[in-house]
This record gives sequence, structure tokens and C-alpha cells, in this order.
Amino acid sequence: MASRAPTLSKSRYTAGLQCPKRLYLTGHDPRLADPVGPVQQAIFDSGNRVGALARQQYPGGLLVEEGPLQHARAESRTRRALQDDGIPAIFEAAFTHEGIRIRADVLRRAGKDEFDLIEVKSTTRVKNEHVDDVALQLHVIDGAGVSIRRAGLMHLNRDYVHPGGEYDLAKLLHLGDLTKEARGRLPAVESHLDGMWAILRENTPPPIEIGPHCARPYVCPFHGHCHRDAPAHPLHELYRISPRLLDELRALGLRDLRDLPEGEVALTRLQDRQCLAIRTGKPIIDAALSKRLKAYRYPVHFLDFETVNPGLPLFPGTHPYQMIPFQYSLHVLEKNGQPVHHEYLHGGADDPRPALARSLVEATRGAASVAAYSSFEATRLRELADALPDLATELLSIEGRVQDMHPLIRDHCYHPDFHGSFSIKNVLPVLVPGSGYGDLAIAEGTLAGLAYAEMIDPATPADRAVRLRAELLAYCKRDTEAMLSLFQLLAS
Ligand code: SF4
Repeated sequence: MASRAPTLSKSRYTAGLQCPKRLYLTGHDPRLADPVGPVQQAIFDSGNRVGALARQQYPGGLLVEEGPLQHARAESRTRRALQDDGIPAIFEAAFTHEGIRIRADVLRRAGKDEFDLIEVKSTTRVKNEHVDDVALQLHVIDGAGVSIRRAGLMHLNRDYVHPGGEYDLAKLLHLGDLTKEARGRLPAVESHLDGMWAILRENTPPPIEIGPHCARPYVCPFHGHCHRDAPAHPLHELYRISPRLLDELRALGLRDLRDLPEGEVALTRLQDRQCLAIRTGKPIIDAALSKRLKAYRYPVHFLDFETVNPGLPLFPGTHPYQMIPFQYSLHVLEKNGQPVHHEYLHGGADDPRPALARSLVEATRGAASVAAYSSFEATRLRELADALPDLATELLSIEGRVQDMHPLIRDHCYHPDFHGSFSIKNVLPVLVPGSGYGDLAIAEGTLAGLAYAEMIDPATPADRAVRLRAELLAYCKRDTEAMLSLFQLLAS
């Protein structure tokens, strides 16, 4: 290894498995990374909160040192703790082997000079990348000469129902054994590491094209940097492109959908329409779209929910990551009439669903069609009916009237500026110029959930809570205004 090559760590190893260029940039030019946004920060914060709860499962454990800095000091404290039989568990234990640094979430003393390794994640299941993560830790800890009896992953239990008050940690957190799976990956770890060291020794980043891997399994922090020089219509913009087709097109030397040879590649009907619109630079709108929208029965109620889905449940009776609607916006359109707006945003810190559902049942009385933009609203209505038996009949009746505009637009309309996405945030500003979400403080659903959680937090100052409430109302209203605008434009 060259003496000035960057070092490897658990996060760099994970980065390298996702994309060799991500590894190179992380090691050589981390300043090119996108700033951490509020959604990403919320994911980190949630992970930290779950980590802190996991530690409570090991009373008497020693927290060596939090944070990635001061690795040498943390390593020396880890060595001392390993020797002390009176310490039943070590948190954030630090190890280095062959230049690879790792921190282990929990090392539980399992016997004389023997430990269990426990990785903690805020997910509700074991993912493939978690096994890689544990396998790297085993490689390093084995190399450091510490005996590991078992390796496991602790994660949130999706079936846990919060009874209210303190969490029942024994039920909220599930510990699964990954020893066999992770040990089985050790030979692969060795070969991955060889490749990663070679990448880090290079003077230029590997020539990796952007593609679906930029968002899987994690949104890459170099997304902005790599997409700066992306072609106008990169290949992965092709709707639901298969990995095989992507590889085939790349092998032909193609980078931009505009260069796709006409009629020579087998495409779905939707992909074909997409390529035609891109080639001609003109939108395509089938006449069938207007006909289908005109079939909606009046009054049409345009409905949108905002939800919060925390890993650690906020309300009694809910489970990790359950979608909890806390707000709706509803525009009501009579035939030849002016739209009327209704809305609800729960203000208290209690479960928002009963009051929201009662308000919605009242506001939708007389609705002939309930227009939504995705299956999200229908699913939430069914869940509300399950949770609120007293209102189940009315809620299921609303759900029965839902008409989803999304598949209609997807199957009958394409504009080159959609760039492969039919989300309303994409479609609205393209089809209705001058509209969009750019003027709003909250411009996407995940941020709305975070804003709501902050608004109902008793620690939030009153003036901040008032501002968040106004921002949430403006955002949700814009979603139903968007549906209404699209409906009026495309049904005409
Ligand atoms: S944005 Fe994509 S190509 Fe660029 S480093 Fe990240 S994963 Fe690799």
C-alpha cells in the first residue's frame, strides 16, 4: 500500500461496495460530496437514537468514545476494557487491522476472552449490505486477535406495537444471528479489500457512469458532482429500464437516450413513447387521457395526505415506520363551478388519526369521485379504517371512490422534461408552466413529516411551531392544487 493512500474504514468499505468511484472520491476528494440535507440528517439522528436504546439492553457497558475522531485514543481505551472482566459490554469499541479502522456498536462479553459482536441498525429487517458490514467487522476484529463467538444484527421489530409511555426495549429491538452468513462472506471481504486498496492508490477516479446504483442501496453523497456532466437524457432515465438493457446499451457505447437507434431496441410501449418524445423534443398526450379524466363523476374531491412514519413510534397502538396521516388537503370541484378548499392539520401531540378521520368523513360527504395522485391515499384510508372501527364504513366508502390520476398520466402522457419521473412534483411544473413547489419552505413529503414532528414537540418555541404550521398548510394545499390544475388542463 502506498504510504500516502487514504485509509479504509467501515463506511468507506460500504461506499466501495456501492461504487468504486464513490470510494475513490470519499478517500481523495470528500469536499465534492453534497451537503447533508435535513432528510439525511434525520436518518442519522434516528439511527443514533436507536443506537442509544440498544445500549440500554447491556447495563454496565462502557462507551469507549463516540464519534469517528480520536481513533487511536478509542483503540487504547478498547484494549483496556477488553482486559477488564468487570465490563460486560463495550460500546463503540475501536480496532485497526491492515490499515482498516472500524468501530463496533456493541461487543458483549460472552466468556473468558470471548465476545459477541452486535451491529445496531434502525431498519426493521436485515439487508444484504448489513451482512457485508458485519463481515468487514469480523475481518478486522479477528485480525486484531479478539475472539468473536457470535455476530448479530439488532434492528427494530416491525411488529412491535407501542403501548405508550416508555418503550419495551426487549420487544422493540430484535437481535438476529448473522454469524454463519457474515463468516461465509470473509473470503469475499479479502478480495473486495484488494480491489479497494488498488482504487485508492490511483491518481484519478475510476470511469464509472451514473446509473441506478447512484441511489442504491444508499443515495450517493457525490450525486450532485457526478450528475453535473450527465447527458441531457441519461440511459437510466428510460422508464423501468432493466439492468440487462442498461448494460446492453452501454456496451453499444450509448450514453444519451437521444442516440438510441430507432426501432432497433426492444422497448415497452411506455418506453417507446418516452423515446419518441425525447427524439422530437415534443410532448405526447394521447386523446384517451382527456376521455378518461372526463369520466370522473362530479363533484370531484382532490385529496392528499401528509404522513409521519418514525422508526420509534410516537403514538400508542402504532409500530415502527407506520405511516400516520396528520394532515389532509381537499379541493372540491363541482361541474362548471369554482373549486372550494378544505384542510385539516392536527395540532396536538396526541394521535392525529381520529380527529383527522372525522374531519375527512365530513368534508367528503357527497363526493362522487375522490382524485388522488398515487395509491398512497387509498392505502392510508384502508389503514385508517383498520385503526378506527367506528369510522371504518365511511372511510372505506371514501376509499372505494378513489381514482388514481398517476397511472392515467403515466400511460397516456410524456414530456421530455419529465426525465423519466411521473411524480406530481415533476409533472406539474412541466405541464403547468409557472406552477411548482420552488416557492415553498417545505417542498416534499419527508420534510413535511419532519416539520410535523418538530411542530408537535413541546420543546419547539411557539413562534417556530406557528411558522411550521403555516408552511405545512401551504405545502399540502399545493399538492391538491397541482392535481386540480392537471385535471383541468388535461380533461379539457
Ligand atoms: S454518483 Fe453514482 S457514479 Fe458517482 S460516485 Fe456516486 S454512485 Fe458512483
